[in-house]
Amino acid sequence: MHIITANGLHMPQLGFGTWRISGPECQAAVESAISLGYRHIDTGQMYGNEAEVGAGVAASGVPRTELHITTKVWNQNLAPDRLRAAMAASLEMLRTDYVDLYLIHWPSPDMDLPAALETMMALQQEGKARRIGVANFNVALLRRSIEEVGAPIAAVQFEYHALLRQPALLRYVRERGVPIIAYSPLAKGQLVNHPVLAEIARKHHATPSQIALAWLLEQEDVAPIPKSVRRERQQENLGALDVVLDNADRAAIETLPKDRRCVSPGFAPAWDPTG
Ligand code: NAP
Repeated sequence: MHIITANGLHMPQLGFGTWRISGPECQAAVESAISLGYRHIDTGQMYGNEAEVGAGVAASGVPRTELHITTKVWNQNLAPDRLRAAMAASLEMLRTDYVDLYLIHWPSPDMDLPAALETMMALQQEGKARRIGVANFNVALLRRSIEEVGAPIAAVQFEYHALLRQPALLRYVRERGVPIIAYSPLAKGQLVNHPVLAEIARKHHATPSQIALAWLLEQEDVAPIPKSVRRERQQENLGALDVVLDNADRAAIETLPKDRRCVSPGFAPAWDPTG
């Protein structure tokens, strides 16, 4: 599998998402995904499953150094002391001394952004996070983080799939060579039976999910992180790595609406325009 190495990352391009998987099912899903070949696992403090992710990683028997683990601090814990406590708890639950990537999960309207980022930078200096980044930031917040605070944002995570494009955000990160972690890459399941993707899939003897993921994988430094609790679907999603799209496929995907956002809680920032 291709490894994204920009900004000092060593991040396998196709990752495994764990939102809404919990308890023993989470440990089993993580263990299964790693046994199939996933080496990039995405979790978060808010998911309440870091202990199970840690247990799954431990049970897999794969050395820690061969895995990329991302976790995220929740947006109520961005004050320096709370952020430090969150990091300590995450490391303990994940049974590791460091995470490969530590993200601010969501901005918060009342956060002190410079203080939060400076604490993230200190955690990186201390070796607790190999790299740091942010999720769900709009262009204005990214600009403040990168250009005003000078934070070494190694990657950004946001919703990105064949039904959602955020051109201004894409342009901003592209111009700075910042890799994108594409969350909800299957549009939370909306793409798995999509008729346009199904038509393309037939041509490639593939599945619609594989087409949705292949479309992201062929974009430079874009890392989709599909989630599935089911082993056969985890395997199917890995099969996207073997699919090569052509221009007709890309043109067909281009015709799909690009404003279908799936994740937008009340505390979300003002989103940049879609289209
Ligand atoms: P997703 O990966 O786009 O879609 C997951 C859904 O698709 C689940 O219902 C899953 O069901 C189903 N599915 C997966 N593979 C399938 C296949 N091959 N065929 C049929 N159905 C399939 O959505 P997501 O979980 O929202 O996003 C992925 C990951 O991104 C999350 O788990 C999380 O790690 C991350 N994320 C981050 C944020 C953030 O704020 N930073 C927000 C959202 C997500 P089964 O599990 O039943 O198979």
